[in-house]
Amino acid sequence: MSTPTMRTAPAVDETSPTLALTCALIERASVTPDDAGCQDLIARRLAALGFGAEWLDSGPVRNLWLRRGEHAPLFVFAGHTDVVPTGAAHAWSSPPFQPTLRDGYLYGRGAADMKGSIAAFVTACERILAHTPVLPGSIALLITSDEEGPSIEGTAHVVRTLQARGETMDWCVVGEPSSSTRLGDVVRVGRRGSLNATLRIEGVQGHVAYPRDALNPIHLFAHVAADLEAQVWDQGNEFFPATSFQFSNVHAGTGADNVIPGVLEARFNLRYCTENTRESLEQRVRAILARHGVRHQLEWSHSGGPFLTRPGTLVEAVRAAIRQHAGVEPELNTGGGTSDGRFIAPTGTQVIELGPVNATIHKVDECVRTADLDTLSAIYQQILENLFAAR
Ligand SMILES: [Zn+2]
Repeated sequence: MSTPTMRTAPAVDETSPTLALTCALIERASVTPDDAGCQDLIARRLAALGFGAEWLDSGPVRNLWLRRGEHAPLFVFAGHTDVVPTGAAHAWSSPPFQPTLRDGYLYGRGAADMKGSIAAFVTACERILAHTPVLPGSIALLITSDEEGPSIEGTAHVVRTLQARGETMDWCVVGEPSSSTRLGDVVRVGRRGSLNATLRIEGVQGHVAYPRDALNPIHLFAHVAADLEAQVWDQGNEFFPATSFQFSNVHAGTGADNVIPGVLEARFNLRYCTENTRESLEQRVRAILARHGVRHQLEWSHSGGPFLTRPGTLVEAVRAAIRQHAGVEPELNTGGGTSDGRFIAPTGTQVIELGPVNATIHKVDECVRTADLDTLSAIYQQILENLFAAR
């Protein structure tokens, strides 16, 4: 069933295939990593246009690689069918997996992040291939159900598989909701890297009344923390804000008022730009700890390096398409958290992210402007036309 539920809203524009497909996807309750049949629906729809479907599943994660054409250049739409949990369903104005139209908006979990974009990928392909069945290159869709989860067996797995068999992507548009206040106002051309660490500072446990016989790791940590917090890691650059350091968790103490704890554990994160590397940051942190002479253990976990797609063929094709169909000049930036673009960019692919307004993503009453779905589909189609017509 793909007919949206109507409330006080005006009649649904039944002529919008993008809206209808978005509704059909929202009805499939695909809480990460469950795909709930979304990818089958997409594969069936694009099989009619000559897209070959390949399932690149890994563990509980469904991954779909759909490709039409054998020749370079290869253009890829990338996205995810999984959604974050709804939270308390009764807090929603309408059931989260029942697509509902109200006042020009479509409500439902995944409406903006990112089932609307996936639907727009599909309808953009349908329209361009209806009038240009032979393109000077290939189109593919890379769809995972593991973007909102650990992101280990999703896009990263597909990219490894493609690389192993020498299948290279030239251009990639990720459908993440990049827009800020109106559709197309922001295009992400990169993302910061993210480096996590767990720090354990070792002291000597004892009685608070006999501090000479103990060593308080909280006091040691206070000095180390102040030093780390005061660091200027870099100044950022033309495309990135400066690298930032934040503690996320600190734990110490036994719960008793009269015990100096023996150990303190803290976790911190560095969001970093291209002025630093994982190695340069790790080295600086280690040097600071060494300077304080505290006994410690440090464990690192790297979520992804920074990437940047400089102005070039793809960025220009995207800019022109947005200008033409949304009437705005997009700001190119590298804000926000990490995305699956971090797995694709290191292969040398030009990657940008463009999708709906992100004001309600992951929230109760997630929604997308219904008119934006058609505009987004028109922009995606125009990007393909700009890239392939230039050849
Ligand atoms: Zn997303």
